[in-house]
Amino acid sequence: MTLLYYDNQRLSEFQARVLSCVPDGKQYRVILDRTAFYPGGGGEPRDRGSFGGVEVTDIDERTGDLLLPEPLTIGETYTGAVDLPYRLAFMRAHTGEHLMSGVLHRITGGDNVGFHMNEQCVTFDWSLPLDAKTLTRAEDEANDAVMTNLPVDTRWYEQPPEGIVFRAKKTFQGRTRLVTVPGVDVCACCGLHMAYTGEIGSVRILDVMRYKGGTRVTIAAGYQALLDARRVGETNRAVGRLVSAKPYETADGVARLLADRDALKAERTQLRKTLVDLKATLLDATPGALLLFEDGMTPDELRHFTLTLTERRENTVAVFSDGRFCIGRASGDVRVLTKALTAAFHGRGGGSAVLTQGTVDAAPDALSRFLHKHPDFI
Ligand SMILES: [Zn+2]
Repeated sequence: MTLLYYDNQRLSEFQARVLSCVPDGKQYRVILDRTAFYPGGGGEPRDRGSFGGVEVTDIDERTGDLLLPEPLTIGETYTGAVDLPYRLAFMRAHTGEHLMSGVLHRITGGDNVGFHMNEQCVTFDWSLPLDAKTLTRAEDEANDAVMTNLPVDTRWYEQPPEGIVFRAKKTFQGRTRLVTVPGVDVCACCGLHMAYTGEIGSVRILDVMRYKGGTRVTIAAGYQALLDARRVGETNRAVGRLVSAKPYETADGVARLLADRDALKAERTQLRKTLVDLKATLLDATPGALLLFEDGMTPDELRHFTLTLTERRENTVAVFSDGRFCIGRASGDVRVLTKALTAAFHGRGGGSAVLTQGTVDAAPDALSRFLHKHPDFI
């Protein structure tokens, strides 16, 4: 089968004759005399499109056979249509990745050891740690190569050529295809590429993370990069409006907001403590065991409130707040009472003799009736 996509990587419409068409599961496996459908490989996804007016369901990556939902007539010639915008997005991204990897290879001596692309971005794993300065420099130099509009040479060799140093993920033997951007990168690759670097548009680093002793870098090229920049820009402007900051000053605006929030939190904690102490003082006048329902307390506040009351009196103190409880008594042991309470209301809880805490799911009336009947609620 003649592979038209290697001769013309922008060919979107072609004529081909059906050599064979046999059922394959629920599909039909169609072998053509020539094809412009890239079957996928080298990290680049397969083409989308139609053949003979029928949408291509899948392409065998190994053989290039088409899988179609309907049979075609053997010996007939049909028109194939490749979804070119879809393919070009991957070609831009792939060529952009070669530029970035070529530049990083020259700067760091490291290698691209893993590669994945989808419709939004390309992710590659670099064999070495990369710092922010190196990444910015690589992004600058890759975009210099884009703006210089260098030719991208793709060429087959019967044997790996001697005297040409090229990047490769494995040791090559036999037919080898080299993708060369003069002065920037030479890489063994079977994927499809733009003819000139200028067609990439731009290359941007979207994300960087440490990965297996090296670095996982996510980049975008062409429309992918444009769409990402637009979305990030819109989000940043929205944040700017919310925090009243200019586009380049949103991080400062958010930092100010967070500092304000932390100060308010500290103030609130102090006020709640004061309130709890005041309530405890007021309750000094109430004799006997105390049962209180105080919704809206944090677990820390509930514990602090119960402890404060426990320290000021002899009798049992039980405080409930939004399904949580705390029970305390300065002398004696509240664990028997707690166990009975959680058993009666399918709750959980435990603690020391002086203070227990846990959760129960019951109405205040039911809890009140239960506790006032229990001999340990004294
Ligand atoms: Zn490649």
